Amino acid sequence: MLLWFRNDLRTHDNPALHYFMDAHCSDHPRKAFFFISEKQWHCHDWSAIKIDFVKRHAFALIPELANLGIELEVVTAPDFSAQIDYLKKYCKQHDIQSVLANSEVEYNEQQRDKLLIKSGIPLRLFEADVIVPKGKVLNQSGAMFKVFTPFKKSWLAYVKKFGFEYLGKIKSKKLNDVELKSTENNTRSSSWPIAHDYELNTLPTFFQGKLADYAAHRDIPSIKGTSGISPYLAAGVISPRYVLVSLLNSFPDLLLATDSKEFSWLNEIIWREFYRHLLFHEQRLCKHQCFNKKYKEVQWYDNKELFNAWCEGKTGYPLVDAAMRQLNQTGWMHNRLRMVVASFLTKHLLIDWRFGEKYFMQNLIDGDLASNNGGWQWAASTGCDAQPYFRIFNPIRQSERFDPNGDFIRKYLPELESIPDKHIHFPHQYIAKTKLQLYWQPIVDHKDARLKALAFYK
Ligand SMILES: Cc1cc2nc3c(=O)[nH]c(=O)nc-3n(C[C@H](O)[C@H](O)[C@H](O)COP(=O)(O)OP(=O)(O)OC[C@H]3O[C@@H](n4cnc5c(N)ncnc54)[C@H](O)[C@@H]3O)c2cc1C
Repeated sequence: MLLWFRNDLRTHDNPALHYFMDAHCSDHPRKAFFFISEKQWHCHDWSAIKIDFVKRHAFALIPELANLGIELEVVTAPDFSAQIDYLKKYCKQHDIQSVLANSEVEYNEQQRDKLLIKSGIPLRLFEADVIVPKGKVLNQSGAMFKVFTPFKKSWLAYVKKFGFEYLGKIKSKKLNDVELKSTENNTRSSSWPIAHDYELNTLPTFFQGKLADYAAHRDIPSIKGTSGISPYLAAGVISPRYVLVSLLNSFPDLLLATDSKEFSWLNEIIWREFYRHLLFHEQRLCKHQCFNKKYKEVQWYDNKELFNAWCEGKTGYPLVDAAMRQLNQTGWMHNRLRMVVASFLTKHLLIDWRFGEKYFMQNLIDGDLASNNGGWQWAASTGCDAQPYFRIFNPIRQSERFDPNGDFIRKYLPELESIPDKHIHFPHQYIAKTKLQLYWQPIVDHKDARLKALAFYK
């Protein structure tokens, strides 16, 4: 029997690992694999920071598994076909009767697994990436919901009725924290602690402190008011079911208290579930097709100069530019800003949402096909339960509402440090009147762009 880690580098609530521990015959060596497949990861637009984060977790898992009597081998296999070749050879050489792994929802990953099974590899799959199993939250016609709110209601009803399977931690000797930490501390992702530390320290602190103000603070990018759990969930190094278990330990009545402040955070976790369930039912989304087929023929503008200005944070709209620089400098972006910049790219510049989706994946530490595709198609109005096409964010108004004093803008655009608060959201006229040695020009006019977008979408 062989254990294969993929998007689930964790010992906590890992169904394939739990099964492996229970079923493994004690007189055989316990062996597990993880493949470093950089060619494949680049093909899937994984960012350098995400790759670094995943590798840190793979290497941190070696001593943890050793403690459970499992030898984890981290093997370099450039792509999925190399993974298949390696496993086929290994299984033949060692007469492996069963390979255990947790399933992955994305199309290419599923195709790889089908090919493996077809070639005779005895692959047994479990589900570890969602709270409620995919395919269990359906409308009355037995299909996936097309709107979030009824999905959420049905998801909650399912959890209340059937609960959810949480496997907990596997008992082992206590490892000291030093052993669990990554050996490489100066990597790009090192400002994000290893999952074990996040579970022990960051998450409980968030539940005890910031969660009470989450609803009020979650839209203010200058405040660290959100959990920062997305890289861990996206890389599968923290279990979503563990997240719900810990949340319910702190707030036992939360599933009934849907109007509570704390529920607003669970609401976001359910959005994550919604997009993963959607991807499961609509595999064409993995091929970057518009969810709403009527947008298939849209002729988006192909303007490299405008796209580059957006990528570099040089649109002349301070909130958009500060957001893009946050992404470029840190590998993460605040949710409100993701909505603002995605709306700006698709509706002010009329550039294909797929370019933005790709750029996000190539730069985000939490890049995740389901949530990223869902977020982009929501903003571009091509998606499932998306923003209606005529709702076009005004980037100046968004800036006034969510960064009223310009604190976030000044952090990422130090060149605007001296601009007074009342001009910070749209400073070009002010700058033109002063002697500041600064070129500042919006690349499009908001009112013109809005009218153009309305006509374009219509
Ligand atoms: C255009 C766009 C692209 C996005 N791309 C990604 C992506 O690649 N990966 C990713 O994990 N999230 C993505 N999101 C969703 C969201 O922006 C991030 O999950 C969130 O900002 C992560 O910060 P946090 O963990 O502090 O969130 P919190 O506010 O603390 O939320 C907790 C968790 O809930 C989930 N969540 C929150 N908001 C959403 C949402 N709108 N959709 C789905 N799940 C959500 C995430 O797993 C998040 O970690 C995207 C949103 C947009 C609008």
